[in-house]
Amino acid sequence: MNWMENELEKLTQASNQRHLRDSATSPERPGHIVRGGNNLLDLASNNYLGLAGHPDIIQAICETLQVEGAGSGASRFVTGNRSVYGRLEVALASWQQAEASLVFANGYMANSGVIAALMGRGDVIFSDQYNHASIVDGALLSRAEHARYRHNDLEHLEALLHKHRDKRRKLIVTDALFSMDGDRARLHELVKLKRRYDAMLMVDEAHSGGVYGEKGEGLCHELGLHRHVDVHIGTFSKAFGIYGAYVSGNNVLIRYLMNKVRPLIYSTALPPSLLAGIMTALHLVQTEHWRRNHLRSTSEMFRYALMNAGFHVGEGDSPIVPIMVGDNERALRFSEALEAAGIAGIAIRPPTVPVGTARIRFSVSSAHTFDELRQAIVLIKKVGDQLGLLTS
Ligand SMILES: *Cc1c(COP(=O)(O)O)cnc(C)c1O
Repeated sequence: MNWMENELEKLTQASNQRHLRDSATSPERPGHIVRGGNNLLDLASNNYLGLAGHPDIIQAICETLQVEGAGSGASRFVTGNRSVYGRLEVALASWQQAEASLVFANGYMANSGVIAALMGRGDVIFSDQYNHASIVDGALLSRAEHARYRHNDLEHLEALLHKHRDKRRKLIVTDALFSMDGDRARLHELVKLKRRYDAMLMVDEAHSGGVYGEKGEGLCHELGLHRHVDVHIGTFSKAFGIYGAYVSGNNVLIRYLMNKVRPLIYSTALPPSLLAGIMTALHLVQTEHWRRNHLRSTSEMFRYALMNAGFHVGEGDSPIVPIMVGDNERALRFSEALEAAGIAGIAIRPPTVPVGTARIRFSVSSAHTFDELRQAIVLIKKVGDQLGLLTS
């Protein structure tokens, strides 16, 4: 098995080997984590609404755990389909103003399973180059043609749609909010194109769910476009602070997916306690507007402060704020220096992002106060200056 060691050595040479490190929650200090014995401001997790430690969610999980036990025992189609699944799916559909919804174990399985179920040989999937890996894997599994368009380049997309106009089925798929860049998909234009070329539109709201929309429904709702989205994907692993995912859409779509999605059929149902926790989180996401409002103002302050300091910061208005660094080694050094200064900011490297665009991806949470973020900004500037990352 020498070849494996050779491959690993190559990764090490390129400052691109991955390591697992322990992180622990910091119970007394929301928005912080403990790594290597140090308390760090957590600017690396996707706990956007600060719900991961919410007492109501924990209570719902514990109470159901006592009654229902730890595991569900089987796939939903065997004996794993506890009544809480149905209640949650009705609540999700109503929140999304959709006819129906279907819960999945996680976003990775939802994306890969749904795409593979919808598309097949002779079909074409049009996918933004920056889409999440689970979308890419779904496209590969489906055996459909995979037409990737340059990030947010809709002229390129239109050229591909034109080229493939006579294909059987067409699916345009995009992240609503791009996970490593924090910018938005051009959803208005995507709706126009899907109509013009008679394609389906699938939108993955993994990072925008909970954060955008009057009741946290997502970016498509915020823009009034949700009725034009055929397949809506959301996750419970980010703003909801738990684990799991769902699809919403019309009745036919949901009935079809129920019969065709392999990760749904051939995998054990989620533990009932988790579903009870998700139910509680859904209520909090819809009603605790202050979390979204606070997150908007802190994210904006954080982004502009770093931009004005002279960092090359990604665009947008989301809680995802990347500082572009370029090479892997420098990004790693940046991340290490941040940690020494009390901040968790993780270096994101290829293949998660294109080669030469390594970055520190910060994510703000509504658990963070303005003061905590202001202090962090001072430290980030200091570290960035030492590494020569400030342009002015
Ligand atoms: C995180 C993420 C997923 C995967 O969701 P999990 O529930 O963590 O498996 C899917 N799509 C996007 C855009 C994501 O960022």
